[in-house]
Amino acid sequence: MAIKKPRGVNDFLPTVTSKWRAVEGLGHQMCAEYGFGEIRTPLFEETELFSRSVGEHTDIVQKEMYTFADQGGRSLTLRPEFTASLCRAYVENKLYGLPQPQKLYCLGPLFRYERPQAGRFRQFHQFNIEIIGTLSPLADTECIVFAWDFYNRLHIKDLQLRLNSVGCPVCRAPYRAALREYLRPSLAELCPSCQGRFDRAPLRVLDCKSEICQNICNNAPRIGDYLCEECSTHYNAVKRMLSCSDIPYMEDSSLVRGLDYYTKTVFEICATGIGAQNALCGGGRYDGLIEAIGGEHTPAMGVALGLERVFSVLASQNEDIELKETLDVFVVCDINNALTAQIAFTLAVSLRQSGFSALMEYEAKSIKSQLKTANRLQASYTVIIGEEEANKGTAQVKNMESGEQTEMPLNEIKQFLLI
Ligand code: AMP
Repeated sequence: MAIKKPRGVNDFLPTVTSKWRAVEGLGHQMCAEYGFGEIRTPLFEETELFSRSVGEHTDIVQKEMYTFADQGGRSLTLRPEFTASLCRAYVENKLYGLPQPQKLYCLGPLFRYERPQAGRFRQFHQFNIEIIGTLSPLADTECIVFAWDFYNRLHIKDLQLRLNSVGCPVCRAPYRAALREYLRPSLAELCPSCQGRFDRAPLRVLDCKSEICQNICNNAPRIGDYLCEECSTHYNAVKRMLSCSDIPYMEDSSLVRGLDYYTKTVFEICATGIGAQNALCGGGRYDGLIEAIGGEHTPAMGVALGLERVFSVLASQNEDIELKETLDVFVVCDINNALTAQIAFTLAVSLRQSGFSALMEYEAKSIKSQLKTANRLQASYTVIIGEEEANKGTAQVKNMESGEQTEMPLNEIKQFLLI
């Protein structure tokens, strides 16, 4: 039996990868405009990096990591998210010694053992931007503006920005106590995972996917009512800057996000029409994360944009993205004639070396069939090398749009194509 790909992963074929390159290209271009530098970290890290940063009590660490022992017996994990790796690289490469803040971005595959469904995969791709080394609310706003701008440039409509502040360790202590008091009478009804989270990580209950837990949390105390002065001033500044940037937001006190490291601002941008998995991106501030993984206290803010969901929403809104990949020249010849085949092959190679895209057949095909292929591939020009032309050192160059055909010496073709 033929071997199939594992559950929850995708093959991206050339018609699709060209669209991915267009979206990734927009990401690279915008990062240059906003002043972010690209960083590439390994696909796997020591498991402890994620358990310490993402949090022992999160779904990601408890249920979703691809963890394995290597031949040396070390516990390694395929990265389930970027931020932890990025912070590890920031500390390990002493990026704190460079001018701050450091604005970094990364792009690539991530791995989570989740239940595959529309918009949810086991290998998926994110584009992350992170601003490390500043507590300024402008950094929070800039990450949100960046994501909003990205979707606007892709012509994605009906976006909704959900915003919240999850406070800092100072305001979270009394909030945690209040939440525990609220949950205590329903403790026996919570799902088994949340019963385990009740003592050490009650905020995680707010983020549980179980319907019972979600219903129990409906009237839970709101973190917004517990923010300390610093967090509330910070949150107000972010909201003010968003309004100045004409970005509408909806405050949502139930938004806590599925990772433990967030402090102060958290947000998600959702789209309509793509089903339940409608979060296009999510992010927030993580002022304690770098310290948690062994660095100095360093405030930071970031956002993770899921790329698969960009394509679902583009499809649902009948928007398409095309990377114009044109074929400059299709070279036509008689493969069975050694001289014309040799001239055609060397011409195609030399055209490519000069930066033109050029294709030709490998097998013997009639001239008519070769011209048909050139048409199908939407070549701008065909260069036809028959026996007569080969003997003279010339070729027929045909402009496929106008139909105009000119005979010219082989060594003049490149110059002709440039005009
Ligand atoms: P997170 O890292 O969980 O905050 O997710 C950030 C974004 O990544 C989400 O808003 C989604 O767009 C995307 N995402 C997260 N998990 C998956 C997944 N399993 N499959 C596809 N996209 C995902």
